[in-house]
Amino acid sequence: MTTASVVDLMDICGADRPEADRNPVKMAKLAGSLHTVANLEVIRYPFDVTVLGEALGCNIDPGTKARTPSISTHPFKDKPEEIEVPPDLLKRGRIPVVLEASRILRNKEGAKVPLVAGLEGPADLVSYLCGINSFLTWTIKKPQLVKQIVEKCIDACAIYANACLHAGADAIVIADANSSPDMIGPDAFRKLIKPNLIKFSNNIEGYSILHICGETDIIISDMLECGFNAISVEESVKDLDYVVGLAHKNNTAVIGNVSTSRTLYNKNAGDVRKEAFKCLAANIDILAPGCGIAPETPLRNLLALADARNEYYR
Ligand SMILES: [Zn+2]
Repeated sequence: MTTASVVDLMDICGADRPEADRNPVKMAKLAGSLHTVANLEVIRYPFDVTVLGEALGCNIDPGTKARTPSISTHPFKDKPEEIEVPPDLLKRGRIPVVLEASRILRNKEGAKVPLVAGLEGPADLVSYLCGINSFLTWTIKKPQLVKQIVEKCIDACAIYANACLHAGADAIVIADANSSPDMIGPDAFRKLIKPNLIKFSNNIEGYSILHICGETDIIISDMLECGFNAISVEESVKDLDYVVGLAHKNNTAVIGNVSTSRTLYNKNAGDVRKEAFKCLAANIDILAPGCGIAPETPLRNLLALADARNEYYR
C-alpha cells in the first residue's frame, strides 16, 4: 500500500524510472509488473508521493532509476496564506499522467487485482509547500495558520483522489509521514490533522486507506476515528495485537507490516517469511510491506511475501 517499484522489476519489464514517473504507458507497465512479476495481489502506483506537491508548485528533483523523486523547493515558505487549490489542479504537473495510467491499468492487470493510487497526506503536503521546519515550528507556534493551510491541502488531496477513483483506481491510500508521533505531538495531530482526515474520508468516493509512518500506537484510536476503510502501519508499532484488536472492534482492516528497511531490503527470503508469519499470526488483514520499499530491494524478497502467505494458510 506504500510505494513499491524496485530496480529488478524495471529491468524485467523494460520501464525504468524516472521515465516511468512521467510517462503513463511506462508507469502502467512498471505498476503492472508488481502483480505479473512480483506476485503481489495489488497494484500500487505512482511510485513516489510528490505528485500533488509538484502540481501545487514545488520543483521536483526527478531522481534516477534507484533514487525516488523528491521535493526541491518550497514555494509558499514566505507566503503560506497564499496557498490555494488552483481551478486547473487536475491538469497540472504529473496528475494527467497518473490518471491516464489508471485508465490503462483498469483494462489490464486492474481487471484482476485492485488498483491502489497513493498520494501524500496533508502534513506532508504542507511540509512540501512551506518546508518541514516551518511546518514543525508552526504546529507549536502558529497552530491557527497550520489549520488554515491544512484545510486547503486536504481539499486538493480529495479532488485528486476522487479523480484517481473516477479514472479507474479501486482505492486510494494517503501516506502522511509527518503526521507521525515521531514528528508532531499527538495533540497537534488531533487538533490540526485529524479533523481534516475525517473531512477527506467523508468526501471520498471509493475505498480509502490511511498510512502513517513510525510508532503510531498512541494515535491509533484517532487514526481509526478518521473513517478510512483500512489503516496501514509500520513495523515500529510497539504492540501489533493491540492495533489489530482495536481496529477490528472499529470494523477497520489493518495492513502491514513487514519491515522494508530491516528485512525486505537487507535480509533474505527466509527472514521475510518469518516476519510475514508474525504479521499473519497477529491477525493482520492484508500482509504487506510496512512502508515504502527501497528501489534496490531484491525481487526475491517481494516474491517471498505471497509465498509466505500461501504457506501459512496451506
Ligand atoms: Zn511509512
